[in-house]
Order: sequence, then C-alpha cells, then structure tokens
Amino acid sequence: MTQPADADARRALRPVICYPNDTLPRPDMALYAAARAGASKVSEVLIPAREAACFRADAGQFFRITSVEGPQVGDLNLWNARDLSERFYSGKSRALHGTHLTLGERMWSSFPYLRPMATIVGDTLDWYGIDEFGGSVHDVIGTRCDPYTGNLLVGTQYHHCCHSNLIRALADETGLALAEAERHVHDVLNVFMCTGFTRDTGQYFMKASPVRPGDYLEFFAEIDILGALSACPGGDCSSEHSSDSAACYPMLVEVFAPDPAALAGWHSPLVNGYDQSHGR
Ligand SMILES: [Zn+2]
Repeated sequence: MTQPADADARRALRPVICYPNDTLPRPDMALYAAARAGASKVSEVLIPAREAACFRADAGQFFRITSVEGPQVGDLNLWNARDLSERFYSGKSRALHGTHLTLGERMWSSFPYLRPMATIVGDTLDWYGIDEFGGSVHDVIGTRCDPYTGNLLVGTQYHHCCHSNLIRALADETGLALAEAERHVHDVLNVFMCTGFTRDTGQYFMKASPVRPGDYLEFFAEIDILGALSACPGGDCSSEHSSDSAACYPMLVEVFAPDPAALAGWHSPLVNGYDQSHGR
C-alpha cells in the first residue's frame, strides 16, 4: 500500500474532543446526596440468572443495582415510564461522556427528547479506572448480546441472550406482544461489564468483570423510569456470552424514595429545546 508523502504528518495531528462537555448542564450532586441520606427502600426486584425483569422508579427516586452471590454483569434498558418512545440513547451518552460511565455522568434519552433520564450517584467500581488494555467498566460501547448475531456467526438458536431476556421482561410488564416489545428494546448500559477496544485491531473486547458481591451502581431517576435489567448469560463475561456455559448469578435492583421535602424546588429536566422544524 503506498502512502502519501505527508502520511506521518497527517497521523500526527492532535485529536480534538468532539463534544466538549463543559457546557453540559451539571447535576446537583450535593442535592442528590442530601436526598439520598434520608431515603428509604420502597421496592426491590431480584433478577434471576440468565433472565431479565422490569422495575420502576419515579422521578426523584434512586435505584441501585447490586451484585449478589457472584460476579455478574447486567444489561440495562431504560424507558420513560409514560412514553416508551423516549428511551436510553447509548450512542449519544457515549459521545457526551465517553466509552464508560461513572459518577456524575448520565444516561441520556433518544431524539427528540435528549435529556438526562438517570444520573449515576454511586459506583463502588469507580476505583477501577482504565486498565493497561484500555478496559474499563459500565460501558456504552457494546450493544447487548442477542440471538441474531449468534445465528449469523455460528448458526445457533439461543433464547437467553440479553436481547430476548429484555423482550420477555418488557412484554410481561406491559402486556405487549413479543414482536411489539422487541421494537422497544435498545442498546444498553453494560453494568459492571469490563470492556474496551484492542489498540492493534480496534476490536471490541471483554474481560472478567472486577465486580464482587456487594458492589453496586446507583442512579438518581431524573424522570419516571421503567427499567429492565438482564443478568447476562455471559456471567462475569470472562469467556463467552451466548450459551449456558458460563457461571451466572442473580442481580438485585432496589428502589429508594427520599423525603419529598429534600427535593423541594427540583423538577425533572425539560425535553430538548430544539424546535424540530429541521429547516422547513
Ligand atoms: Zn448479555
């Protein structure tokens, strides 16, 4: 392959951050911490291994996802509980915050809403940082394990990938038919999953999650949330994730409600202000 004479000079140009986020609206973490201090548990859902289940958290409540029994990663979908067309937008959350989310960062919703759905207020794996392979936890770069890719690559019919688990959970929660529920399942936040891209080939990789029982990721619900979490058939995702061969464990979702007075003056973020005229 021939290269232009100035190839090295072109490669040497310094990268520029696509979306400088110093103008992003900042979450009021002190307000959230004060509200959390007086909050009490209102519900919990235990997600069985290789299955998914739904949960609900009202705007202003907190939801915590905890590893129990053994290392396990979870695939998280969020919807506006009042309108399923507003759902988590993994790609834009990645563009705004980076490949992996942590404290103070947010799960943003789809167009035309584009507003924070949930803000991370607790992360016991915050210490992990970015390892020597470029891996980190809680990614928004993966999609979700699904039966179509397995069928494409190796011809399998496997029914407990996160995609199918999330479809069944949403169908059970809402009464939607499976085919209708499937249209609402979307790319996830990979809770506790340790992932990155290889430096030499740029391929998506995973490695054993550093999560241990007791670790948690906690969110403040910015709007009324319908969530679904799948305890991935990959378990800790140290080997594969589209079969029953990995050790898998349940995951716990707990919802906490603060004293309403603690959030006096706070309201859900408004939907995006773009006028949607698109130049016409
Ligand atoms: Zn999965």
